Amino acid sequence: MAWDFETESAFQKELDWIDALVREEVEPLDHVLGNPYDIHNPRNQKLVRPLQAEVKKRKLWACHLGPELGGPGYGQLKLALMNEILGRSRFAPTVFGCQAPDTGNAEILAHYGTSEQKKKYLEPLLNNDIVSCFSMTEPHAGADPKMFKCRATLDGDFWVINGEKWFSSNARFASFLIAMVVTDPDAPPYQKMSMFLVPSDTPGINILRNVGLGTEREEGEHAYIRYEDVRIPRENLLGQRGQGFEVAQTRLGGGRIHHAMRTMGQVKKAFDMMCERVLSRETQGEVLANKQMVQEQIADSWIEMEQFRLLVLRTAWRIDKYKDYRKVRKDIAAIKALMPKVYHDIVYRALRLLLHDESRRWTN
Ligand SMILES: Cc1cc2nc3c(=O)[nH]c(=O)nc-3n(C[C@H](O)[C@H](O)[C@H](O)COP(=O)(O)OP(=O)(O)OC[C@H]3O[C@@H](n4cnc5c(N)ncnc54)[C@H](O)[C@@H]3O)c2cc1C
Repeated sequence: MAWDFETESAFQKELDWIDALVREEVEPLDHVLGNPYDIHNPRNQKLVRPLQAEVKKRKLWACHLGPELGGPGYGQLKLALMNEILGRSRFAPTVFGCQAPDTGNAEILAHYGTSEQKKKYLEPLLNNDIVSCFSMTEPHAGADPKMFKCRATLDGDFWVINGEKWFSSNARFASFLIAMVVTDPDAPPYQKMSMFLVPSDTPGINILRNVGLGTEREEGEHAYIRYEDVRIPRENLLGQRGQGFEVAQTRLGGGRIHHAMRTMGQVKKAFDMMCERVLSRETQGEVLANKQMVQEQIADSWIEMEQFRLLVLRTAWRIDKYKDYRKVRKDIAAIKALMPKVYHDIVYRALRLLLHDESRRWTN
């Protein structure tokens, strides 16, 4: 019976190397550079490219990809162990060539793209010479694609797209967008939509605003886009007409668990900061760490973090075992539901302990 929670020693060496690089060389970039997707910015090029070269030399570049696409094909469990380190830093996924949404977009290009589409979009994407955007969510419809309204109609040899999308992450840096659009409104619900490759310099892609979330700096990353008479060649269809939902599902299963893996890293970072803080800060005659309610917050955080981690790792293990996302749909759905709760609760406790002085000042 195989039921083992240990990492084999050869791979542990790689994880130790990744951990040292991320802590010493990559995390500092978060403080001095702007956006990891701003890849043509000379400052990003100067500081990020040499680190990417080191990662490639170590054969740890794009570990989400199988050998057929130039990656080592480690599988999801090893990727989870890597991503929980990379999640600590905004720049680490880019340094290791496994940043969302490019990973998922590469996956569907590899699955459904024609050889011309792969040459034009997939090859430079895998090399981080360009970045991409996945443009699916609509303002009124959220996570329910059956309600999408953004429409493409055929006009001779061109598709013409009209409608709105939001939360289109990184649209302002992307060379192309993959847009999920209604082409056949009278078809059954899951066959109404098709997927399109839309070069971002096509006239009519109007970014109404960029929304910022969490740790994002300067202008936000998540675009609210109005597509107005966006004309793209007929051959820019990705997959078959009416296959949009299926194409989307191919990327979202993997995409969700990859976010969960990186969230483990962010949660661990918040936990580490919390632990450091309670040992260094004194109040009312003793360090915070001596106070029983603080100890309870640390204990609750550790328990929640470890439970979440085990669920993510077991799900990754099941993906590797079955090689069929449909068999792990429920595990991935459970992670998706649990992730924001664990993230919120631990980061909230960390903030309260880190901002102890400030909150006391406000309440006095
Ligand atoms: C940081 C970030 C980046 C993103 N990047 C992208 C991107 O690159 N491309 C893209 O296309 N989209 C992106 N999204 C959008 C993301 O896919 C949507 O946020 C997600 O699909 C949920 O949609 P929604 O936020 O509209 O909420 P909905 O799922 O529509 O939910 C709205 C409300 O209804 C509740 N609800 C939903 N379903 C049920 C139910 N069955 N029963 C009871 N209550 C329910 C929810 O709890 C919520 O309160 C991003 C979102 C975020 C936060």
